[in-house]
Amino acid sequence: MTSGMTPDEFRKHGKELIDWVADYYERVESLPVTPDVEPGAIRAMLPEFAPELPEPFTEVIADLDRVVMPGITHWQSPNWFAYFPGDSSFPAILGELVSAGLAQQGMLWSTSPATTEIESHMMDWLVDLLGLPQAWKTSGPGGGVIQMSASDSTHTALVVARQRAQGTASLDDIVAYGSAQAHSSIEKGARVAGYRHYRPIEVDEQFALRTDLLEAAIADDRAAGMQPAFVCSAVGTTGTTAVDPVRAIGEIARREGLWHHVDAAYAGSAMICPEFRHHQDGLELADSYVFNPHKWMFVNFDASAFYVADRRPLIETLSILPPYLQDAASQSGSVIDYRDWHVPLGRRFRALKLWFTLRSFGAEGIRSKIREHVGAAQALAARLEADERFELVAPTPFALVSFRHVAGDAATDRLADAVNRSGRAYLTASKLPDSSSFIRVSVGQTNTTARHVESLGDLIEEMSDPA
Ligand SMILES: *Cc1c(COP(=O)(O)O)cnc(C)c1O
Repeated sequence: MTSGMTPDEFRKHGKELIDWVADYYERVESLPVTPDVEPGAIRAMLPEFAPELPEPFTEVIADLDRVVMPGITHWQSPNWFAYFPGDSSFPAILGELVSAGLAQQGMLWSTSPATTEIESHMMDWLVDLLGLPQAWKTSGPGGGVIQMSASDSTHTALVVARQRAQGTASLDDIVAYGSAQAHSSIEKGARVAGYRHYRPIEVDEQFALRTDLLEAAIADDRAAGMQPAFVCSAVGTTGTTAVDPVRAIGEIARREGLWHHVDAAYAGSAMICPEFRHHQDGLELADSYVFNPHKWMFVNFDASAFYVADRRPLIETLSILPPYLQDAASQSGSVIDYRDWHVPLGRRFRALKLWFTLRSFGAEGIRSKIREHVGAAQALAARLEADERFELVAPTPFALVSFRHVAGDAATDRLADAVNRSGRAYLTASKLPDSSSFIRVSVGQTNTTARHVESLGDLIEEMSDPA
């Protein structure tokens, strides 16, 4: 029997598929950003049962165009302005290829020393690149680990905070807090971690958490015999990229003995440019932090960077030691075993794609992309603000433009729908806390330039109702 492919066949088809991917990137700009496909249409092209006998790989490759492409939403189109970016780049894709090729399981240092050490080193590089607290380096009390997603990272932080609070309180009484604009992963993570109480705190007119209301909620909970355990600050909310007052929340958390987690899933990448770092002022008061290189640092999903200021409570919470996972290197205490830093045991070599990307772009290459995206977004915001038909609903501290049509929700929704239906760009229709409609334009796909954002501005003007 075969083992699927010989090394020579792998060489041949591998090169064909590299060409296929390169061709895709050359033509993706010309494709409608979203597919025109009915639910079930892709499955209908697949045979009902898996093949009993080997099929020629040329037929597998042909089915990429026949079956897969009709159902692809083009996140890597430079005309992608929806949600937040979920970026890729050629160096990162090659990092994924090698990671798959080496097929490591890096749960222990000894099961893949390179997986562990390059990951620790990349996390330390990012501390300097982003101006994060030096104590978060592996040479200090803290450290970083790559997780699958910000949701996983936040869930992990919630578990450690729960464990710490449970020293003195019952699980029934433990409370987590976040802004009413915090990402759904905070509340979901709290639920998964067994918290019975999650309190969304109302926001100010810039959509940032109100610390007076946070303090009042903590006091109310204490008066009711509850145990406040966890608070999340957002640097760049998903709704409008609002920035919570990290330092003030950190001071409250210190005073009240809460675990302080900072969610910078999207905006964290911008901190590679020093001019944005005032938005993360107070990070040295955080117990944990997450940002996603897989959003806006040109590294393919999945790569979420999770840091703790002190790694001991994390490891104490998550370390379970069956005999088959004990070994001399681990017991020496001189190595990191990343299985103790998150929920999964097995873990792949994700640091490769980060390493390839950071070296191929250089920090300056990443900075110039981020600055180009922010500049283009701010130019679009200024253009919309100058047009009597539109109003901005939130500031643009990074590269998200939040606006609406002055004629109201129907005109706003119609505009979003018309742009999306054109296939020439894709943006997101959303709702403000008062449930009025607005449009999110998120600039950040790797290959998006000022020209693409100008074309989007033209499209918005062309498709808009009069004032
Ligand atoms: C995107 C986002 C998340 C969730 O990220 P995943 O990696 O998909 O879990 C969490 N928080 C914020 C602020 C985000 O923008």
